[in-house]
Amino acid sequence: MKNIAVIGAGTMGNGIAHVFAQNNYKVNLIDIAQASLDKGLATITKNLDRMVAKEKISEADKNNTLQNITLHTVLADGVKGVDLVVEAATENVDLKLKIFKDLDAICDAKTILATNTSSISITKIAAVTNRPEKVIGMHFMNPVPIMKLVEIIRGYNTSNEVTAAIMDLSTKLGKTPTEVNDYPGFVANRILMPMINEAIETLYNGVAGVDEIDTVMKLGMAHPMGPLQLADFIGLDVCLSILNVMYDGFKNPKYAPCPLLVNMVMAKKLGIKSGEGFYDYSESRKAEKVASQFAK
Ligand code: NAD
Repeated sequence: MKNIAVIGAGTMGNGIAHVFAQNNYKVNLIDIAQASLDKGLATITKNLDRMVAKEKISEADKNNTLQNITLHTVLADGVKGVDLVVEAATENVDLKLKIFKDLDAICDAKTILATNTSSISITKIAAVTNRPEKVIGMHFMNPVPIMKLVEIIRGYNTSNEVTAAIMDLSTKLGKTPTEVNDYPGFVANRILMPMINEAIETLYNGVAGVDEIDTVMKLGMAHPMGPLQLADFIGLDVCLSILNVMYDGFKNPKYAPCPLLVNMVMAKKLGIKSGEGFYDYSESRKAEKVASQFAK
């Protein structure tokens, strides 16, 4: 595999494009919005600059990485002739089903179609294509250039050959792939999201404030980030979507999203990407707690 298309230039898409390009793959980065592509490329450039400053890569490595990336707003142009598509568009089931239907119609028969979805069924996505054996979950972690794990999710029909190829490719990116089966939330979010939801519920019930909850989990459990800070980092809309997928998938109330999370997403308090979530990132970017005012 040499030529890769990445769909979506947001938080995850730009990181995935960065990692492929830095490992000498040719990357077509595709987004419906030119502004997202520009922002994505600016983020990649900023992250590469930081790596140069820390002497982790050379200036030549940075330029080579940037030269490996081409931006596209038209899906058919971006996926022409590629060996692999990694879809990292917004976490919305209808959107992903439409993208995969389109991809199946326009991509070469040999092309493997991967999705970076956090929770949506790979089997469901694969079912809208005529190549379900070539559809697989390739779930990178945020921030992609730093985090080692790729959760590899086999759909019901994903072939052994495709799974082996994607495991091998992930290793070539310097990552550690881990194979899991296709059930709501897979492994990472099935365990992580109930913890984040419970932290929000703890805040909502007025048991403790934002700082206190995060401090308990950071210092008490040796977590590098508190759960509320992590929710801001992931995006509260993404957290809500994942919880809803697990709630629908298991029909179990333990996955029901906390009403405070629902309210914050409706109020467009999405975390870092909107400038405010449980912390305020808008001014000095010195995170300050803001959401305690919503506690009961
Ligand atoms: P995001 O909102 O930051 O970016 C999504 C991007 O997709 C936007 O730039 C948007 O313009 C683009 N987009 C929407 N529709 C499109 C289309 N039809 N064609 C091309 N581009 C389109 O979202 P994100 O956080 O990067 O999440 C992307 C995917 O990665 C989701 O499936 C999410 O569940 C998953 N994921 C997110 C995280 C995280 O921490 N944020 C971690 C792992 C996986």
